[in-house]
Amino acid sequence: MKTKDLDKSFVANTYGRFDLEITRGNGSLVYDSEGKEYIDLSTGIAVNTFGMCDPVWINAVTNQLNKYQHTSNLYYTEPCARLARLLCEKTGAKKVFFGNSGAEANECAIKVARLWASENKGDEYFNVVTLKNSFHGRTITTLSATGQDVFHKYFNPLTDGFVYAEANNLESVEKTFSENKCCAIIMELVQGEGGVVALNPDFVKGVSDLCQKYNNLLVIDEVQTGNGRCGTLYAYQQYGITPDVITTAKGLGGGLPIGACLMFDKTENTLKPSLHGSTFGGNPVACAGAISIIERIDKDLLNGVLERSEYIFNSLRNSKGIKSVSGLGLMIGIETEGDVSVILSKCMEKGILPIKAKNKLRLLPPLNIPMDQLKKAVEIIKEVARENI
Ligand SMILES: *Cc1c(COP(=O)(O)O)cnc(C)c1O
Repeated sequence: MKTKDLDKSFVANTYGRFDLEITRGNGSLVYDSEGKEYIDLSTGIAVNTFGMCDPVWINAVTNQLNKYQHTSNLYYTEPCARLARLLCEKTGAKKVFFGNSGAEANECAIKVARLWASENKGDEYFNVVTLKNSFHGRTITTLSATGQDVFHKYFNPLTDGFVYAEANNLESVEKTFSENKCCAIIMELVQGEGGVVALNPDFVKGVSDLCQKYNNLLVIDEVQTGNGRCGTLYAYQQYGITPDVITTAKGLGGGLPIGACLMFDKTENTLKPSLHGSTFGGNPVACAGAISIIERIDKDLLNGVLERSEYIFNSLRNSKGIKSVSGLGLMIGIETEGDVSVILSKCMEKGILPIKAKNKLRLLPPLNIPMDQLKKAVEIIKEVARENI
């Protein structure tokens, strides 16, 4: 049987896959089973930070594989310890817990928030505020945190203790803080799955002030926005706030599964022995790869992200057939006049691979995509949007 038939027969039917099998890749280019070349504009949903088969990352991962692949968290391992130090040095965080996905990083943050509240406010302050239109994961608890009813349907009863406030509406946040016994608010600074919408900076600053006023933790979900994607190592660094916890995953591992929950001053000693854990968390191969990613997200690389971002915004804004361009850095949403699914399939025919977010075309290219490939991809998007109004 061919891959597609095997998959249809034996893999759980949870994904609406495109009719495309990727068989290899090189940097920002990927190839399908017929040998057709595409410019990759989605990097496995913001995962392949430096594109496919990045040689520095491959070297870091294979070096570690030749030493040992896993030990359990009963022993010390160098890649895990070094990655934690690197993340703390670059953010001001004090401690890191490693898991294997974004959902797991958020689960950790929720446990930290409730544990912190039980020590500092009282057990009854268990409520966590999240924003409408947010996305925080697929486990029952992170699904409960996700502020979109469509994801909740069929899975009741959800985890208790989540209340939802309106994004970009400070009064709504203050109302939820004052009417519920809360421990934290969790929010994405650019709502990714929600349509690539950046929160308004005044709102974010205001939420940070309200967290001070109500003694609630400020938790930033940087699963998608983090690791250079938005033009700073973490997106919160351009909002003038200091979070109490950040979570990240996706681009951190450069292609291997890893998630991290970073705890700042208030929460650095909240987790204690036996209160949390993970068999695979801090896996040495994933951590070695992640070190090679984070070490390279420096000023030069980030300037390159901003340059590419500006190029995309300037080229697409006011182009015929495009209603709006949203997002931050290389996390971009494009609202088209024509039907987005039609536009997406035409883009694929012409050899580029964007994805969707709600009713928008979503771009998450490699942070180092060569300018000539990016220009070619942008011209194709303009052409397809213009021809399919
Ligand atoms: C993707 C995503 C998650 C979930 O991450 P998984 O690795 O799929 O569990 C959580 N939060 C945000 C903001 C995301 O974009």
